[in-house]
Amino acid sequence: MEKHYDHSKEGEIYKKWEEGGQFAPKGNGKPFTIIMPPPNANDPLHVGHAMFIALEDIFIRFNRMKGCETLWLPGTDHAGIETQFVFEKKLAKDDKSRFDFDRETLFSLIEKYVKENSDVAVSQMKRLGASADWDRFTFTLDPKVVGFVYQTFEKLHKDSLVYREEKLVNYCTKCGTGYSELEIDHIESQSKLYYIQYGPFVLATTRPETKFADTAVCVHPSDKRYQEYIGQEIEVEGLNGKFKLKVIADEYVDPEFGTGVVKITPYHDHNDFDVWTRHKDEIPEPKQVIGLDGKLTEVAGKFTGMRVKAAREAVVNELRERGLLVKEVDHNNSVGVCYRCKTVIEPLPLPQFFVKVAPLVKNVINSLDSGETTIHGTGREKILRNWLTSLKDWNISRQIVWGIRLPVWYNVDKNPNIRVTFVDQNGNRKIGVLSNLLKEHNLNEISAGLQTLIAPKDSEFIVSADSPGDKFIQETDTFDTWFSSGQWPVVTLSIRDGDFEKFYPTSVMETGYDILPFWVMRMMLLGVYLTGKSPFKDVYLHGLVRDSQGRKMSKSIGNVINPVDMAEKYGADALRMALVMGSTAGQDKSVSEQTIKGMRNFSNKIWNATRFVLEFEGETTEINKDLEVELGGWIKDIEDNLEKLKPGQASEIAYQAFWHGYCDKWIEEAKKGSVGTKQMRDTLEKLLTILHPFAPFVTEACWTQLGKKTHLISTSWPKEV
Ligand SMILES: [Zn+2]
Repeated sequence: MEKHYDHSKEGEIYKKWEEGGQFAPKGNGKPFTIIMPPPNANDPLHVGHAMFIALEDIFIRFNRMKGCETLWLPGTDHAGIETQFVFEKKLAKDDKSRFDFDRETLFSLIEKYVKENSDVAVSQMKRLGASADWDRFTFTLDPKVVGFVYQTFEKLHKDSLVYREEKLVNYCTKCGTGYSELEIDHIESQSKLYYIQYGPFVLATTRPETKFADTAVCVHPSDKRYQEYIGQEIEVEGLNGKFKLKVIADEYVDPEFGTGVVKITPYHDHNDFDVWTRHKDEIPEPKQVIGLDGKLTEVAGKFTGMRVKAAREAVVNELRERGLLVKEVDHNNSVGVCYRCKTVIEPLPLPQFFVKVAPLVKNVINSLDSGETTIHGTGREKILRNWLTSLKDWNISRQIVWGIRLPVWYNVDKNPNIRVTFVDQNGNRKIGVLSNLLKEHNLNEISAGLQTLIAPKDSEFIVSADSPGDKFIQETDTFDTWFSSGQWPVVTLSIRDGDFEKFYPTSVMETGYDILPFWVMRMMLLGVYLTGKSPFKDVYLHGLVRDSQGRKMSKSIGNVINPVDMAEKYGADALRMALVMGSTAGQDKSVSEQTIKGMRNFSNKIWNATRFVLEFEGETTEINKDLEVELGGWIKDIEDNLEKLKPGQASEIAYQAFWHGYCDKWIEEAKKGSVGTKQMRDTLEKLLTILHPFAPFVTEACWTQLGKKTHLISTSWPKEV
């Protein structure tokens, strides 16, 4: 036996497991299933991924050894906007943009780019020891997944849980897409509150540049100052001439804020939009002054074409010059910015597809109440319940190409006013209304070169996976990435015959607490909706991996730990132990290269103990009862903790038992003659078995050294003595 453990042979061990078919579910024990959170197919793994691999592999190996029919189903995610964003940055370097391509070409370019990178994530997961069933590997854009997602959408539509409506969406004018509320970061911002002369009133606003789209003025119904105006029209001197507006009353107005008078700009403010929906009969249709490109529309008159920030400045200057600016005061407010690119989010009107969530939420709350699903992670269940009870309808439309295109079709004869952008067969980009464009181009040419379309809000549509006929054009929006990954446990288990019946509901969903609302909640909503059962019994939420000083890992600080580098340097076992040992569900964990290096000593300790046992010739043949009892205690403690989903504690016990129990105490006892050869060896075998889920490679290597013909990975968990 070599003097030192050589972790560079971990890859060979993995290969033997894989070639030996060790990762497929076997036997007819109780099923135990984990669906792997699919990492972004385009990205190499970061330390957070290493954390989930270590934790899930522990649960999987433990239950496999316990005799469960164990399935760990892996996959990767196309990660919609994330990936398209990265790809567009790459395009920009070559002086190109998404507008240079029709959507299908752009899709294939991104697909090619992702394919070039997607093997990386998989080979890295293998490098870290993930004993997942790669034969069941699934990518979120696999045709079977797309087909399933289409069926789900059709079902939701049939059940009247999908609707298309012009609503204000949180739109990033830089990314060119709408976002759900969860994808908006809120930052505190210092801005100004402008008091402007507005007909007979002075009103306060933070957004004077949207005044061209005002449709009413609003006061509180019981505000004594303004009673005589309610229901009247006022004349306002504007920057593009005089205009008239109605004064309405609504309880939404806070009489204490500003002057108690506000302007109503429905298309650019969520609250104003709500006011408008309540007063539709009294006031005109809204106007749109900010376009999807982030510039002021023709509604702004001489300010048309200016960007929001510049327009605000110009409008304020002119108000000031014309004596219409009464005063301006500093004002702190919370501003929503795009979580990707930090551009200020504009509420803009766009017809979008929404999922009604209220009927789905009820059943998820029931599954929490009944204990069908338990959340492990300090205080996270309460947070989940808060998300659920305040959840608004889910906007599932995204204006990007990298995703699953909505199976929605518009009849071009019935919907002549669809606005279309496409690249014609000569490579020229054309924009216009469909009925006009069809005079010069045929529908096939337009469909083939299509970039985007926006069908008017009341357009009739058909939901269908395939084209309903030659007069139809397909919606260009794609599904929110979380709409497909929100069906992940159901989809992945529906691909192979028999899997769903056997493995659903799954046993544990293990993932980072940071995606609880995005992903776990959505999987519960859609899982319960599609199957009547919550998709998992337990949710184990791990925390963020931080550096030794408790800081987030980031490129700019330079404290990022690359998991694969660490595995190459110290062994995957060392990395896994460092991540898991002492970790607690729901809490962040600090790790440094020093910790990982320290854990390499543990691998060496296991190796050296094996060497000792192989060479040891004991003086006694008697069984040492104390060792027997102690070993039984270790097995039980580790087993109990793993069954209670406490891998951090279980690994701590395993570490202490081996190092301080077996090595420090019992090897010394053996040298003194109180333990015999066979007992030392049997004890080591059992210890290697219970250490295997935590440090799979070194334990398997030692197992081979002991002359075992079978693999440790497929050995049964020891019974307590
Ligand atoms: Zn953005």
